[in-house]
Amino acid sequence: MKVLVADPIAEEAVEFMRRNGLEVDIRTEISHEELLEIVKNYDALIVRSRTKVTRDVIERAEKLRIIGRAGVGVDNIDVSFATEKGIIVVNAPGGNSVSAAEHTIGLIISLVRKIPKADKSVKEGRWERKKFVGMELRGKTLGIIGLGRIGYEVAKRMRCFEMKILAYDPYVSEDRAKSVGAKLVSFEELLRNSDIITIHVPKTKETENMISYREFEIMKDGVYIINAARGGIIDEKALYDAIVKGKVAGAALDVYEREPPDKDNPLLKLENVVTTPHIGASTKEAQMIVGMTVAEDIVNFFKGLPVKNAVNLPSIPPEDYHYLMPFVELAERIGKIACSRLNGMFNRVKITFKGEIAKRNTEMVTRSLLMGLLNPILSGVNIVSAPLVAKERGIVVEQSKIEESGIYPSLIEVVVSNGKDIYIEGTCLGEECRILKIDKYKVDFVPRGHYVISLHEDKPGVIGRVGTLLGSYNINIAGMIVGRHGGRGGIQLMLLLLDDPPSEEVLKKMIELDGIIDATYVYL
Ligand code: NAD
Repeated sequence: MKVLVADPIAEEAVEFMRRNGLEVDIRTEISHEELLEIVKNYDALIVRSRTKVTRDVIERAEKLRIIGRAGVGVDNIDVSFATEKGIIVVNAPGGNSVSAAEHTIGLIISLVRKIPKADKSVKEGRWERKKFVGMELRGKTLGIIGLGRIGYEVAKRMRCFEMKILAYDPYVSEDRAKSVGAKLVSFEELLRNSDIITIHVPKTKETENMISYREFEIMKDGVYIINAARGGIIDEKALYDAIVKGKVAGAALDVYEREPPDKDNPLLKLENVVTTPHIGASTKEAQMIVGMTVAEDIVNFFKGLPVKNAVNLPSIPPEDYHYLMPFVELAERIGKIACSRLNGMFNRVKITFKGEIAKRNTEMVTRSLLMGLLNPILSGVNIVSAPLVAKERGIVVEQSKIEESGIYPSLIEVVVSNGKDIYIEGTCLGEECRILKIDKYKVDFVPRGHYVISLHEDKPGVIGRVGTLLGSYNINIAGMIVGRHGGRGGIQLMLLLLDDPPSEEVLKKMIELDGIIDATYVYL
């Protein structure tokens, strides 16, 4: 079996593959055109981010069966075309968490002890000992926003500095936080009480600009801010203003709204801002781990053993493929709705397959449900990793099958819970998927587009007020379903299909309307 290594990976990973009988060619300077020429000779291809595994590469790759990405993001690989061609794509998630955590700690110490400035001063021939008085970490409070893989490793290490550790992450359990000595608190509590705040969330709609003017106002005077997660989670303009006003004592940044940042980005001109060029994961060890992780999966694959980190779909028998794919899509959309209605907080998922679908291998459908549930709150959960991520988070997943169904040939029923339950039922008619019920309310719609789902009191004027509010923000209602349960009165469910997504402000105003109980937005 022949492996082409098209970007540099750790020597140990190459040796490991050779020891296991694979023939490995290293062509780390290869151009796209050369790759197109020679890819047909290989059974496996390993890349980092430089080499683009585009559709034309895959089209020419007659023998290729597996692509390894020595890193996490697979945006340089046409994964869906690879899947269509039956090529497995594997990556190396989590391999760089410790390196990113260590870099964060390096940034914290550089910042509070003014190391880069002191270094510059000595090298320029000065000896300014009084100028570089720092802050001791012992006894101070570190606020960690996002207690995932990297946030967790930061917490674990910062305990040794005798710091008090607060964490804000609505999706992790108290027990996980406790296991690293962190106290889970609300976002406001963290902002109000931390001496140093470090960010470790993925960049999502929810986290974009999550630290801006209002948040800086709430923080302690003289707070330090670290961002080694993603640019754009901190509003750079607000950060600049907060530093200049003296509210923030200093910031350390590995990531920027634009990368590389503009030369005239005002933050780069400030003395109390420490910067690095997105090198959180750039260590020999992290590169070794990601290289070895991919090499091991490639060796396993050729030995016929299961691979650990497949990014794309496991193979489904061709006769089941067309029947199951619409249900895979339906399940993901059900997951997204449930996640938005439960604000991402759930610890139990039950899926029941009824009718024809119950006779098939439904594993992909369940995985897709979990992906839909987890993706809005975590970075990069895919159909292969979703069950593992759910397990790591202590989410209980149950499946059951009943071969008889009612009026629909196949039906799936989902209950997601965390004290509060949500029930969603759907089916597929040919390739079109439909959601039939949300909780006790009959809805019947094709889940595609911008939806606001809300509960309201069934009394005159409520729906009109919603229409007026959206109209005043120039948001067009493209469709509406009121899933009435029982007769007149009571609490009913409203589903609005909008032409444009509503802002946080619109949703907030909608919830404040007389008769509206709640409202959540979801893009399906
Ligand atoms: P992860 O998915 O393991 O953890 C992210 C955590 O954020 C999760 O626990 C999740 O529950 C939490 N979260 C999600 N939305 C939240 C919200 N709105 N409020 C609070 N918490 C929320 O990810 P990770 O591997 O720990 O990576 C963290 C960040 O670091 C990501 O942005 C990643 O892209 C970045 N990263 C940067 C570098 C670098 O070179 N600087 C290297 C690796 C990763």
